[in-house]
Amino acid sequence: MEYRYEVPRGGRFGRFGGRYVPETLMEALRKLEENYLRYKDDPGFRSELDGLLRDYAGRPTPLYYAENLSRRIGGAKIYLKREDLLHGGAHKVNNTLGQGLLAKKMGKRRVIAETGAGQHGVATAMACAALGLRAEIYMGEVDMERQRINVFRMKLLGAEVHPVSSGSKTLKDAINEALRDWVTNVEDTYYLLGSCVGPHPYPMIVRDFQSVIGRETREQILGAEGRLPDYIVACVGGGSNAIGIFHPFIGDEDVKLIGVEAGGEGPELGKHSASLTRGMEGILHGAYTYLLQDEDGQIAPTHSVAAGLDYPAVGPEHAYLKDIGRAMYLAVSDEEAVKAFLTLSKTEGIIPALESAHALAYAMRLAEKCSKDSIIIVNLSGRGDKDLETVLRRIGEWTS
Ligand SMILES: *Cc1c(COP(=O)(O)O)cnc(C)c1O
Repeated sequence: MEYRYEVPRGGRFGRFGGRYVPETLMEALRKLEENYLRYKDDPGFRSELDGLLRDYAGRPTPLYYAENLSRRIGGAKIYLKREDLLHGGAHKVNNTLGQGLLAKKMGKRRVIAETGAGQHGVATAMACAALGLRAEIYMGEVDMERQRINVFRMKLLGAEVHPVSSGSKTLKDAINEALRDWVTNVEDTYYLLGSCVGPHPYPMIVRDFQSVIGRETREQILGAEGRLPDYIVACVGGGSNAIGIFHPFIGDEDVKLIGVEAGGEGPELGKHSASLTRGMEGILHGAYTYLLQDEDGQIAPTHSVAAGLDYPAVGPEHAYLKDIGRAMYLAVSDEEAVKAFLTLSKTEGIIPALESAHALAYAMRLAEKCSKDSIIIVNLSGRGDKDLETVLRRIGEWTS
């Protein structure tokens, strides 16, 4: 199969992606692409980044055979790629360290980012502190109220948090504000995007920095089983942990790639965040992709029990992988994800992030239908400590 591994032609994955931004940002995006392509294979840059990933973030992460869980289900062998063990508790640091280092090499001392639940803001603040960069984070006022601990965390880590009071006061408004800031301060400012979304070259850059997950996984499963897995399952918010584990396997057609979106509380618009499964094509935040929108093209409200999956669009490369049939996407409900969260905690002593629990829930369903010699790898994108209150509230609902 023909697949473009490297620089997407014209910044597009098939008809998806592109660069739908005001003219003032075109030059900045071109410069970013030029610098990225210069540094990405530069031995100095690579060894500095590899050192940070190893000594600061904690790579490589293990690939763990979840034997108790597999035995309990009685089908395929389930392996977990343990991104939950990284510094900060999720895969996001792979990207913030990569882009932070790039910002530093480009001579930018000021880094801006947007955050919804606060996870990307925290990961950005961490990387900037480690790299000696100034971090300014845009966050909707509603999100700031909901995620007070993460606001405190960002401040502890030395970042400045800008409250956003426009629109719905949530993630998409924070992205708009961050873009506005970037347009004004493009000379000295680096915009550090948190997922494989937005205008080219961001989807490519974030994918490349997250692909370390898939490269390690490939080596580890060959070591453990002497062959590649049958399935790789990952949750999809913007899509960065999924594309990171998928990408090094895209040429291996026997490895089935499955992305799991947030099915929330039901299929009606507003009750879920399943942009690929239930969305329509359109443009948001600089890219042509699948979106959740109403008949007038207005961005729809979204919902998920997992804050990190609560985004109305998806990375353009996933839109393309869906279109050419190389990856398959489906949605798992809030309730099924919470059940998987509880199951993994009990059987393996690992509390997964609710985001990752979506992938896990589908993997468990799948494993049941597979023979004992099948292999499923789940990308355990993060740990669940941040979700304890949410789950506690839910369990209360179930038992009362
Ligand atoms: C942010 C987050 C996600 C969703 O982001 P992607 O870009 O889709 O990976 C998934 N899992 C965890 C633990 C997260 O923090």
